[in-house]
Amino acid sequence: MASPTPSSVPSSGHPPSARAPINWVATIMFVVTGLVAAVGVPLYAWFFDFSLAAWVWFLVFLWASGISITAGYHRLWSHGAYEAHWSVRLFFMLFGAMAVQNSILIWCAGHRPHHRFVDDAERDPYSATRGLWFSHMGWMVRNHPSGEPDFGYVRDLERDPIVAFQHRFYVPIVLAMNVGLVALVGWASGDLWGTLLLAGFLRLVLNHHFTFFINSLAHYWGTQPYTDENTARDNPVLAFLTYGEGYHNFHHIFTHDYRNGIKWYDFDPTKWLIRGLASVGLARKLRVTPQIAIERARLDMQFKRARARLESGAVTRGRIELAQVRERIQKEYEAFTATLAEWSATREQWASAAKERVARRLEGVDLQAYAREIEARLRAQRKRVQALTLQLA
Ligand SMILES: [Zn+2]
Ligand SMILES: [Zn+2]
Repeated sequence: MASPTPSSVPSSGHPPSARAPINWVATIMFVVTGLVAAVGVPLYAWFFDFSLAAWVWFLVFLWASGISITAGYHRLWSHGAYEAHWSVRLFFMLFGAMAVQNSILIWCAGHRPHHRFVDDAERDPYSATRGLWFSHMGWMVRNHPSGEPDFGYVRDLERDPIVAFQHRFYVPIVLAMNVGLVALVGWASGDLWGTLLLAGFLRLVLNHHFTFFINSLAHYWGTQPYTDENTARDNPVLAFLTYGEGYHNFHHIFTHDYRNGIKWYDFDPTKWLIRGLASVGLARKLRVTPQIAIERARLDMQFKRARARLESGAVTRGRIELAQVRERIQKEYEAFTATLAEWSATREQWASAAKERVARRLEGVDLQAYAREIEARLRAQRKRVQALTLQLA
């Protein structure tokens, strides 16, 4: 796993070792919940054992609060990737508060700058360039200037009455959800203490770390199929723990897409939930990145990789000459730019024709079908460039 380089921290800034004052509320919460989960849960299991009901509530609350962060706090409120009915927003507000990751307003006031200034040690609140620990939890246990929420980023959200209500009554809502609701279901199922330990403490600690993994591990461990201009990575293992947020390389380039895992088999339950809500009329205006833009980004990365191999003094495997490979990659690149130019020219022509209401006279140019043809061309080209790159050792 990569470790941060000291040079990544600007000398004028505040390096990770800076003595920013400790955030006692966050620190005590992490220590107490962590200790109870690590010590109290096994002891209770040893002496009393947990009821089946406690385990069921543990799973229900883990998923309800985890997915309220990913589908609600993250994709809905931070990125406006879709619109949701008030009942859905109410659910995400309540169960998001249960995950104890601050109010929606404060969360988004940190997350929007994370995207805007990603990896900038001074302006990205959880910059991965400041180290794995810093991006995981370090940024929360001290009051770093970079972590100060800037409400200028969330003026649009202040107008959402559900968001405003949660911000105003955040602490009572957190207590009602984490103590009131958990104790209530525990009492009703006849295992009060077991439910408090499992569905309360252990569930909360897992909620915390699963989300924190997205800021830490998802910026360190995985692949970069779409961009290498920031540290974000795609990682299916992390997607499994983070309700689909492990496809973080895609997310950092196509931020407003309601999906993070774009292939049908990518494990992205947050995407499935949003699509399910849309199918019953509880979500709408789901934002999707045009497939051509996705293919273009992937092919661009493939060219970057091929060039890096060529520049690193590569030799070819097999019988093909290096000069020949270089030439073929160059030709592919020219074809790539030509395809993109052709696509944008056709699209412009189509748009202006549509404007003049003579679209039908464009000899039946079906933009959708044409887009699919361009996509296929880019996809096939990526496979060819990939094969050429593999020739370079
Ligand atoms: Zn995001
Ligand atoms: Zn990120």
